[in-house]
Amino acid sequence: MTKNIAVIRGDGIGPEIIAEALAVLDKVASKFGHTFNYTEAPMGGEAIDKFDDPLPQSSLDTCLKSDSVLLSAVGGPKWDNVPKEKRPERGLLRLRAGMGLYANLRPATLFDELREASPLKPSIVEKGIDFVVVRELIGGAYFGEHTTTKRDGEDYAQDIMGYSEHEIERIAHVAFQTAQKRRKTVCSVDKANVLDSSKLWRRVVTKIAESYPDVTLSHMYVDNCAMQLVKNPAQFDVIVTENLFGDILSDEASMITGSIGMIPSSSLGEGTRGLYEPIHGSAPDIAGTDAANPIGMILSAAMMLRYSFDMPAEASAIENAVEAVLRDGFRTGDTVSEGKTLLGCRETGKAICAKI
Ligand code: NAD
Repeated sequence: MTKNIAVIRGDGIGPEIIAEALAVLDKVASKFGHTFNYTEAPMGGEAIDKFDDPLPQSSLDTCLKSDSVLLSAVGGPKWDNVPKEKRPERGLLRLRAGMGLYANLRPATLFDELREASPLKPSIVEKGIDFVVVRELIGGAYFGEHTTTKRDGEDYAQDIMGYSEHEIERIAHVAFQTAQKRRKTVCSVDKANVLDSSKLWRRVVTKIAESYPDVTLSHMYVDNCAMQLVKNPAQFDVIVTENLFGDILSDEASMITGSIGMIPSSSLGEGTRGLYEPIHGSAPDIAGTDAANPIGMILSAAMMLRYSFDMPAEASAIENAVEAVLRDGFRTGDTVSEGKTLLGCRETGKAICAKI
């Protein structure tokens, strides 16, 4: 099969980790007889420097013409003081909206080999952690109106959190369909005791659940969910929630599984084209030192093969290779512990390629 992949190399550690993901994809291509063509689509800080725009139209067009998009991470202190509309993360928000990516899936899985890296007590960790956060990605407060005005002689700022029925319906379908491929339970997270947008969220999710009688639905308030994630994460299979709550909860979810450097994500809309990226940022503090963990990026490439290209065997080949490298005791700086062997970003990528 031939697939065209748009590549956003990103900023900070971005170019280092994406180089390893592309090497892994090339290895998979030669082993399974595929051709992966890569086209660069500058975004974020790199694009600001080159085009004075965090997402030039040419980059968006490249992404829209591709079979899928692979992104590392964007941003860094160099662009912290550029005007709001030109900030690197505006490029990312515009890309998500431009590609119509309304569903963000973040698996939170604790690898057996990384149990000691979880900050949770062994008695909690031993029950296992294996759930997916399905986060609504292009609605809610991040996409509502943002205004700063004067009120009673002082600054007053507001951000509007709004959801329409169809926006909730489509993300609910993604959550129920994801659960059907897993342990068939969905926990919908909201703040329906206070927010109107959450009351509508709960009503619509409950209605959509009727189409999925094989899936069990429960509801939880977001504050309780934040607590339950550290108290008893084993109870969760699929968590579905709105944009802002999902942003916060999925970072919490990633931390309890060990390192932010391990977690991939996929963002999907209608059709099979997706955006695949690790959940971490551009880690400017370790950029250029070969210390980054490329595994979240490499597992994002595996997710792309599974969800967008329907190549489950190829995806499993990558995931098994990652597990094998961890089993051999190799670790990057963020997950290393006593008795393990420290590897840099490049060597970790090479070791994973060698296991495929
Ligand atoms: P960050 O995720 O970049 O870093 C947080 C901490 O985790 C740092 O100590 C970093 O060294 C470490 N870390 C992150 N990824 C790692 C990896 N792969 N291997 C080893 N260690 C890793 O978050 P931050 O410091 O808040 O943000 C840095 C920049 O990234 C900012 O400009 C921010 O806006 C941007 N950012 C981008 C995205 C994105 O592109 N999706 C997401 C979050 C933050």
